[in-house]
Formats: sequence, C-alpha cells, structure tokens
Amino acid sequence: MPITTLFIDRDGVINQDSPDYIKTAEAFHFLPRSPEAFALMKAHRLSGMVITNQSIIGRGWVTEETLTAIFKKMVTGIEEAGGHVDDIFFCPHTPDDDCACRKPKPGLIMEACRTHGIDPADSVMRSAMV
Ligand SMILES: [Zn+2]
Repeated sequence: MPITTLFIDRDGVINQDSPDYIKTAEAFHFLPRSPEAFALMKAHRLSGMVITNQSIIGRGWVTEETLTAIFKKMVTGIEEAGGHVDDIFFCPHTPDDDCACRKPKPGLIMEACRTHGIDPADSVMRSAMV
C-alpha cells in the first residue's frame, strides 16, 4: 500500500520551537514554507495529522483553551495556504507522568490510527530533530 498519512510533529517542524515553550498564539510562528507543505500534501491526497507533546498543560502553565487558540492559529495559517490539517493529537502529560502517549512512545499515533482507520504501515512520522 502507498503511504496515505503523514504524522507531523508541531514544535520545530511546523513552527519555530522555543526554549520558553509556545505558551500563546502570539508566540506561534510558522517555519518557512511549512503551511505550503500542507498544501502540497493535500494536492497529493496525503492526510496530515499533527502529533505533539504539550507538557505545558500537565505543568499547569497553559490552559486547554489557550492551547486550542494556538492550534487554531496553526490550522488557519495552513488553510490560508491551501492546506488542511486532518486531525491533531497531543499528549498533555509531563515526563514524570510516565504516560503511554508522550512521544517517542507510540500512543498518540496508535490513537490516530484507531480513530481514522489507518494502517500504521501506510504512514510516516516526521519528528523534530531533538
Ligand atoms: Zn501522555
């Protein structure tokens, strides 16, 4: 089967990462050409799903409402470039929580595959270089 789905990390792949974390929509800045990459994926009929660790929730630094506003800015920018975000999955936990979904554990990807009926063999993941 051909690849149908790209799982894409957020910070450092879609937007500039920051040592201070991305705590507001104002602090979210696209990396060059990343919204256009989503348009190319759409043109090639590839689903694009964002898979991201957001421990800022578990640490109590940011509310889910603020995280939603940050995601909204991301989705809006991608759609304005002609792209589409098929879904967003995030881990809200801290490393100390030892959850099953914090990358590099596969929990978020497995959840996305279950939710959307994706065979993991038909997907690839693009992570930030860390
Ligand atoms: Zn988690």
